[in-house]
Amino acid sequence: MVLDAPGRPLRLEERPPPEPGSGQLRVRVLACGVCRTDLHVVDGELPRPKLPLVPGHQIVGVEESSGRRVGIPWLGWTDGSCRYCTSGRENLCDEARFTGYDLDGGYADYAVADERFCFPVPEGYPDEQAAPLLCAGLIGHRSLRAARDAERLGLYGFGASAHIVAQVARHEGRRVFAFTRTGDEEAQAFARSLGAEWAGAVGDPAPEELDAAIIFAPVGELVPAALRATAKGGVVVCAGIHMSDIPSFPYDLLWGERVVRSVANLTRRDGEEFLALAPRVPVRTEIETYPLEQANEALDRLRSGRVRGAAVLVVAG
Ligand SMILES: [Zn+2]
Ligand SMILES: [Zn+2]
Repeated sequence: MVLDAPGRPLRLEERPPPEPGSGQLRVRVLACGVCRTDLHVVDGELPRPKLPLVPGHQIVGVEESSGRRVGIPWLGWTDGSCRYCTSGRENLCDEARFTGYDLDGGYADYAVADERFCFPVPEGYPDEQAAPLLCAGLIGHRSLRAARDAERLGLYGFGASAHIVAQVARHEGRRVFAFTRTGDEEAQAFARSLGAEWAGAVGDPAPEELDAAIIFAPVGELVPAALRATAKGGVVVCAGIHMSDIPSFPYDLLWGERVVRSVANLTRRDGEEFLALAPRVPVRTEIETYPLEQANEALDRLRSGRVRGAAVLVVAG
């Protein structure tokens, strides 16, 4: 499924399978998760996608020569030599290339990837349930680490990432408070079913102050809202790659050593840590599956906030 230009629906195209270059492996795609970042790419909210582009960066595939399952994430390549790469921060590499953005991704029957950036897929997860671990899970993990040791954790937007983070946070003994769109009682019930002790709408007063908040929804207004809900010394983590502008707010909301920060991309270490942790929790992903040709429908459902958990394209039957 190919994006010709932002703002257009994806188009089904027949192509020969891509040939792997040096250091790359080729996989037959089994499943590919649909991420909000894909939506930002398709909707033209990110500045410079390769075009035409095959989106998708939560790829579970099988390497046909060895039969081993391989996970291909968003971080597709780094230079390995810059000051970020050499200080354990390859997620910030200026030259980084991203799967389904700079490189063709997994909305396809076959994908190629630099072997050094691929992960083994944890045993015990069916292909389509493993796919959301590869971005929703990894970014959620990085965001949760950025929330430090917060006991009372607010999650703003209860989609693919939050439904995984909630499980990990409960496993770590944290208390979870979920904020959804106004009136989205289904998402609130879903959050409670995954261990949130409170779920309500953004704007509802939380029953207690939060020690940290993670914002998954791409809505800048949530930053002052989350700061307002956060105790002194707390951190507000913006987990998405794109967000609408943050409105100005009184300094008083930041005073008291509150911190606002973003989380960008992932390092391979995040992936290794999280994919080892997920089966121990154990994280269970709730998914909606679509055949590859229905990628546009899956993106539409994500855009309108109707996906429960994560949307996944099931590619090889
Ligand atoms: Zn670098
Ligand atoms: Zn993603």
